[in-house]
Amino acid sequence: MTPLMVAAAYGSVACIDVLLSPLHLVDPNRASPSSLSTALHLAAAGAASAAPAAVSRLLAAGADPTLLDHLHRRSSDLVALPPNSLPLKNHLLSLFGGRKEWPPDPSLPDIKNGAYASDDFRMYSFKVRACSRAYSHDWTECPFVHPGENAWRRDPRKYHYSCVPCPEFKKGARCRRGDMCEYAHGVFESWLHPAQYRTRLCKDDLACTARLLLRAHA
Ligand SMILES: [Zn+2]
Ligand SMILES: [Zn+2]
Ligand SMILES: [Zn+2]
Repeated sequence: MTPLMVAAAYGSVACIDVLLSPLHLVDPNRASPSSLSTALHLAAAGAASAAPAAVSRLLAAGADPTLLDHLHRRSSDLVALPPNSLPLKNHLLSLFGGRKEWPPDPSLPDIKNGAYASDDFRMYSFKVRACSRAYSHDWTECPFVHPGENAWRRDPRKYHYSCVPCPEFKKGARCRRGDMCEYAHGVFESWLHPAQYRTRLCKDDLACTARLLLRAHA
């Protein structure tokens, strides 16, 4: 381990600053020969409260967040803090430009369970009805729709469209017919359309697939 790696692992921002100063000009991307870990890997993995400061110093000095260690992990893959330090974890992940991790929210309805798993809810309310939660939460875990969310579905009882995918929308283009289009815009409008939904044999796959799709499109 180089001195920079040690300083990074312990989140010693003062040491990092000295080592990266023109006086020392340490290469921030120098990797350990055995593990291929860089100082950035160690800073990200360190649970020090100064970890975000250490990470931003290293990034500013040109540390490359795309470098892989011997287990093919990027620095951001190593951000692993206990659940009680979620704000810190979110801060770290945001430095890497990564996905935000939300705190577990017990009041959030489970897409798979209870009333939210009913056929009626899935066909007419899932990503149709507006969410009433005032605080920020993980949209991909919430069956309701949020301002600006692209999983939004038109209520099949109010809009007249079929379960057939819109050819324009499928090509990734903006459909000229907009909300008045007679075809389904997106997989959810197609799959959860009553005409399509009622013919589906295994409805349990739907909840999982919905979750995966929401994550992929978030
Ligand atoms: Zn919500
Ligand atoms: Zn269309
Ligand atoms: Zn199945």
